[in-house]
Amino acid sequence: MTRRRSSARRPAISVLRIGHRPGRDPRLTTHLALAARAWGAERMYLHPPDPILAERLAHVAREWGAGFTVEPAPDWKAVVRAHAGAVVHLTMYGEPIDRRLPELARQRRLLLVVGGAKVPPELFQRADWNVAVGAQPHSEVAAVAVLLDRLGGIPPARRRKGARRRIVPQPRGKRVLGPGGRKRGRDR
Ligand code: SAM
Repeated sequence: MTRRRSSARRPAISVLRIGHRPGRDPRLTTHLALAARAWGAERMYLHPPDPILAERLAHVAREWGAGFTVEPAPDWKAVVRAHAGAVVHLTMYGEPIDRRLPELARQRRLLLVVGGAKVPPELFQRADWNVAVGAQPHSEVAAVAVLLDRLGGIPPARRRKGARRRIVPQPRGKRVLGPGGRKRGRDR
């Protein structure tokens, strides 16, 4: 059975994305960053760096709230070395997530490392755990989202610090509040 853990005790999460191809797959890496942010991660290190993508996420933070940054990682090994916590490489070749979830949930800080088309073999040795979200190939976005969901789910819907907009959930249509609680755009 799939069990979620309480988000109150969840480890602080950073994501390291390696093998990004600036200009070739901006949507995929943007979606990875958006998913990590929505599920409560604090930052995404990006290797190689991509200032355009970092600015895109900075814009999201200005509109929808702070608390997540994209940081350049010209040297991914340096990020792994400097991380003061456990390093989890997400890979379909790893151990099943269910086997490692209790240990992962007990950590204070986790660095989740995801690859692109190819992953440097060295990463398997440098990680504390190599963890699979199912033993089939899928996507870095799905792997991060599922693990974060299992570790505590999406943080409660409240206005994030610095947010200019906030969604008011509706059974149908869109309702978005701007600064001072004013309605933004047309209700649909
Ligand atoms: N053959 C590659 C590999 O070594 O896993 C698949 C690359 S996949 C397009 C890109 C990334 O998605 C992988 O580096 C891994 O981080 C993540 N990924 C894909 N399937 C996964 C799975 N079943 N479990 C965990 N992570 C996965």
